[in-house]
Amino acid sequence: MRNFGGHVGVALFGILSFALTVAVVTVIDRVTGFNLFSLSVWVIIPLGAMLTGAAAASGYYFGSLLFHTRPTWLLLVQVIIVAALAQIAIYYSEYSTFVLDNGIRVADRVGFFDYLDIRLTTTHLRIGRALIDTGEVGSFGYLLTLIQFVGFILGGMGAYFFLKVHPDCQGCSRYLRKLATGKQHFNDRYAFATYYDNVFGHRHDWRAFAKWMRHDPGKKQVREGTILATSTLHGCPHCKTQRIALMVQIRGKKEWSTIPNLARDVAIPQGMDLRPVFKGETGRRIGTEPA
Ligand SMILES: [Zn+2]
Repeated sequence: MRNFGGHVGVALFGILSFALTVAVVTVIDRVTGFNLFSLSVWVIIPLGAMLTGAAAASGYYFGSLLFHTRPTWLLLVQVIIVAALAQIAIYYSEYSTFVLDNGIRVADRVGFFDYLDIRLTTTHLRIGRALIDTGEVGSFGYLLTLIQFVGFILGGMGAYFFLKVHPDCQGCSRYLRKLATGKQHFNDRYAFATYYDNVFGHRHDWRAFAKWMRHDPGKKQVREGTILATSTLHGCPHCKTQRIALMVQIRGKKEWSTIPNLARDVAIPQGMDLRPVFKGETGRRIGTEPA
């Protein structure tokens, strides 16, 4: 296997994030009585479990970026196993640290599976913003647990797919690093359309591009309907080639939504450094102009 050391490093990072996540969730549960992973939206969407699964698998994501290893099916298998084990490990860690008010350790009196049965069926479901208690869930607890299990696995797989879509340099098979970002606001669709049609229109005149990058007609004002263009400059740590990813979002009443059709990914000619453009440096010559 190519880059064997890197894959071992990634596996170690994954085990570390798994252990940390189990420890943090258990400590929060012990201190506040709130079980992070049981948090759900509309009862059945296991948001807490998804986040916990993603946290448990996050070491694989960050380790892969650090060691420049591409996600393989073997990584997907590891991520799924770790996310699934995280749920069981959290239950076990709860069980082994559970001390009753009278000082008796639960683990000394009941077996793990008996504990789990009581634990799952006597969970209280809390609904709505007021967290109205609906009483013990009974055998529905098993179904909830199964839903959470799926949540854990989806969260873990999320770490894998984020890696899959992370921009990389085809030539060197390394992950690109984020070098700079620029944000531009438009409160007028026509102003945005003019910008969008022209910003990458002059591939050989990066001074024109620099001018467009400083163009912020909305002057950072955000209201309903504002269009936000975010340009991210990425660079390969090995061959130094740069790329720009442009993301376009539109403001709703309270939130931004991305318009995927307007996203663009533009390769920058080799040897050109656009970091000064993103820093707003105007006087300096931009990179080397290609012939
Ligand atoms: Zn490269």
